[in-house]
Amino acid sequence: MRPDVPLVPSRAPENRSFDRRRLLSYAGASLALAGASSLVRSDSARAAVQLGETSSSVTDVAQALAAAAANAWGGQQNGRIPASLLTPVQASVAGSGYLRDDAARQYLSMSLAFTAAIGRPLVITEGYRSYDRQVAYWNAYQAGTGNLAAYPGTSNHGWGISCDFGSGVESATSAAKRWMDANAPGYGWSPTGNGFSRPEPWHFDYTGAWAGAGGPVQGDSGLMVLRCSENLEGVGTIYTALLGMRSLRHLLTINQINALRVVGVPYYEVPRSQFLLLCDALSVPRSAISVDSNYWRR
Ligand SMILES: [Zn+2]
Repeated sequence: MRPDVPLVPSRAPENRSFDRRRLLSYAGASLALAGASSLVRSDSARAAVQLGETSSSVTDVAQALAAAAANAWGGQQNGRIPASLLTPVQASVAGSGYLRDDAARQYLSMSLAFTAAIGRPLVITEGYRSYDRQVAYWNAYQAGTGNLAAYPGTSNHGWGISCDFGSGVESATSAAKRWMDANAPGYGWSPTGNGFSRPEPWHFDYTGAWAGAGGPVQGDSGLMVLRCSENLEGVGTIYTALLGMRSLRHLLTINQINALRVVGVPYYEVPRSQFLLLCDALSVPRSAISVDSNYWRR
């Protein structure tokens, strides 16, 4: 007999058990809905040496914030970058399929080379991360229920210049990881996760300097020639185009293709699915894929 337990649960809030995590997530969700900033667990000072997804040389929140400020670009705020300013890519975590323009282009070039070498696509598990998602990850990490997470506002994921890769790259001893450590830096993607306080072989940061929206990528013209030898709707089974950010030029002759190859524009033969994925990633609409296309948009 336990007379102190009511037969019918009371609906009075003061009689509910106090669940701090639930209250925080509820408050965070409410604030996010109201357009205000999310709550960060207030015990960050105590947790200052438990920073995750951060270089092992960064040991407190102030250093992490300073390091993050150094990676700011375009006047944007970490984790609050409009999707319209980022380039869509395919990623497993819903809503994370965006990268900064130059990082995306170099990822696409790298993924084609990865596929040629390793025999499977280079999958992004998580790319861009919103501030609210970083808060949720941080709170879970601090509560001991989540993976390593950077202090909110300090993750390079929030700048659209980090990727967590799958495709075997998550395993420190795989051929895929060895290929990435050796070759990704040539595309500006550095295996920075190797240097985290707890290593994350899957985490890479894009280290190229930002040259402005649609600007040139260091060591890359930003253009590529793609040849698709599978049926593309409306244009048949062989279709070759010069693609760039928001641009597509149909190439009619082998001389046009060779002239571009001579000056170092990369050339790839790709299946239909990859051709369309690259068009999407470069913000080239499907309607631009035609035999008389000279599509270019600022
Ligand atoms: Zn990461």
